Amino acid sequence: MTEPLFQRVAFIGIGLIGSSLARFLRREGMVGEIVACARRQETLDKVMELKLADRVTDDPVVAAKDADLVMIGTPVAAYAEIGRRIGPVLKPGAIVSDVGSVKQTVIRDLSPSLPAGVHFVPGHPVAGTEHSGPESGFADLFHDRWCILTPTAGTDPAAVAKISDMWTRAGMRVVEMDAEHHDKVLAVTSHLPHLIAYTIVGTATDLEETLRSEVIKFSAGGFRDFTRIAASDPVMWRDIFLNNREAVLEMLQRFSEDLSALQRAIRWGEGDKLEELFTRTRAIRRSIIEAKQA
Ligand code: NAP
Repeated sequence: MTEPLFQRVAFIGIGLIGSSLARFLRREGMVGEIVACARRQETLDKVMELKLADRVTDDPVVAAKDADLVMIGTPVAAYAEIGRRIGPVLKPGAIVSDVGSVKQTVIRDLSPSLPAGVHFVPGHPVAGTEHSGPESGFADLFHDRWCILTPTAGTDPAAVAKISDMWTRAGMRVVEMDAEHHDKVLAVTSHLPHLIAYTIVGTATDLEETLRSEVIKFSAGGFRDFTRIAASDPVMWRDIFLNNREAVLEMLQRFSEDLSALQRAIRWGEGDKLEELFTRTRAIRRSIIEAKQA
């Protein structure tokens, strides 16, 4: 049995990501007590039913009090209010960390509420599915995936090392980077693909009835893969786009230009240009498979 890494962990937001981490910490005996916080009673009931926490509460203040680690796993727009509420009760030496998909606004929204002596380690485990809620989590979600930590200049290295250790034990490869760089990288690898999927599925939804039913019937032709991505949580993704506005708009601009170039190649019958691009993209897919990220 592993020595607990944390005596008491508070999960504020315990959906897909929070509950997966809670399951892992529990399974490995890495935590003394788990307190979970969510707004809705049905979420709290589910957490108790699944034995993911020792105690549940709808009050972040009650959850955060006396916690050694406060792990925030709500949609990112909720962070500022959560920070304002928990700031005054955090115990000296506590670590506050998170799993939010955007990092610059998270740091902007949380940092001012955290008292001196509390260590903030912003993080993003780049792992997930299109499902939500505590029932959809699983302990091995993080296995063989990357975790990005974006500590700021003042972050205590010992706190960063402890959070890094936790994610490494969960099977993740941990890297540190600047929050701005994180937001740019994720804009192209995650946020833009989701936006494209939402758009394509939206376009199909708006088609006239006969065409729409044919789209569903023949979805295996490619459309189906987009529908999986476009089934992701609407609130979480609303918050990601509103909170990573600049980087997403920049990548969207570049994408629109590339799309126009393809449009032109199709119009003018420039098959060599199409083939050259499709050959390069096929190689990217191969390198993702080789890097075991498929
Ligand atoms: P999720 O399954 O929808 O879970 C969100 C949890 O937060 C639920 O327990 C929800 O319960 C609770 N919650 C929402 N607002 C709250 C508030 N104001 N105060 C307290 N609890 C609140 O979401 P998720 O997929 O785990 O994502 C959580 C975070 O991880 C997001 O910031 C997301 O950007 C990030 N992330 C997601 C993925 C992914 O693939 N899903 C991957 C990496 C990172 P109630 O509704 O009952 O309050």
